[in-house]
Amino acid sequence: ELLAPELESDAELAFEGALRPASLSEFVGQVKVRGQLQLLLTAATMQGRTPDHILFAGPPGLGKTTLAMIVAQEGNRPLRMASGPAIQHAGDLAAVLSSLVPGEVLFIDEIHRMARSAEEMLYLAMEDFRIDIMVGKGAGATSVPLELAPFTLVGATTRAGLLPNPLRDRFGFTARLEFYADDELEQVLTRAASLLGLDIDREALAEIAGRCRGTPRIANRLLRRVRDYALVYSDRSGPSGAGTADIHSVRAALELYDVDALGLDRLDRAVMQIILTRFNGGPVGLNTLAVSVGEESETIEAVVEPFLVRIGLLTRTPRGRVATPDAWQHFGMHPASAGTL
Ligand code: ADP
Repeated sequence: ELLAPELESDAELAFEGALRPASLSEFVGQVKVRGQLQLLLTAATMQGRTPDHILFAGPPGLGKTTLAMIVAQEGNRPLRMASGPAIQHAGDLAAVLSSLVPGEVLFIDEIHRMARSAEEMLYLAMEDFRIDIMVGKGAGATSVPLELAPFTLVGATTRAGLLPNPLRDRFGFTARLEFYADDELEQVLTRAASLLGLDIDREALAEIAGRCRGTPRIANRLLRRVRDYALVYSDRSGPSGAGTADIHSVRAALELYDVDALGLDRLDRAVMQIILTRFNGGPVGLNTLAVSVGEESETIEAVVEPFLVRIGLLTRTPRGRVATPDAWQHFGMHPASAGTL
């Protein structure tokens, strides 16, 4: 899925690794969060202590993992990567925590998916750098306290609402990442294009920026397809031999992959077109809509609709989903008047 914000493969992970900004000053956008982070990290360095625990919340692909790496890099600290779903028992977490070295940054991605028992262990670890380990079973079981090295926990979550309050409260700083503006995405793309050795002009970059749903991960992924296109179809006379791309090659490449001018994919378009043509713009109920496009209603509600609402093509009303005037315009259609229905 070219437009899915989640990471799609190991190959993409490697590709992203090559494009990841390594310092706060290279990190584009999120100006407020960057300022807050900078202050927090500098203060910790001045006092010679580990920085407070940090939580990054926001949709996939906006830079949570990247920022976690930067937190470690800026403070010259080692980084340990872990993920919530892999922590199924308190013991899994105890093993990680007890092996941390002083000052280490522990990154837990998808922290809302950690086992409940591990979550509870984490409370004490975050607060007192200490855990209690149960030794033995039944009546003879005793809990043995274990001192931990001071560390900084960096958590990432796409669902901050699912974190229990006691966990959320133990983070000294919570940053909510926002979708990126077009000019910020252009900066992300400019940087990535130069790392890829792709010769591409501003107009072409702006065209990609407008189609990547406010998400740097998608921006980089679309750029990669454009790079392929340039490699195969342009004359490769550019400085690096990686090809040159202009607005025409961007349009052609993205049309090939069904990414339209607003960054809608095939399913987004199917949903909108059914509302416009079959239901004359709505309102139409979620279930009826789902059956009409042959998708699960959960997929429509959680994956398709949020973006359509965000870019102003769709509104949710108590009576159902309604297409906006912008939607009619984007699809080049007009509502049928009552008489012609
Ligand atoms: P998340 O952890 O939120 O899913 P990542 O940190 O893995 O997102 O970022 C996905 C990709 O987007 C990475 O390749 C990263 O280089 C790029 N990226 C994200 N945010 C930025 C940014 N602000 N500036 C430059 N590149 C970014």
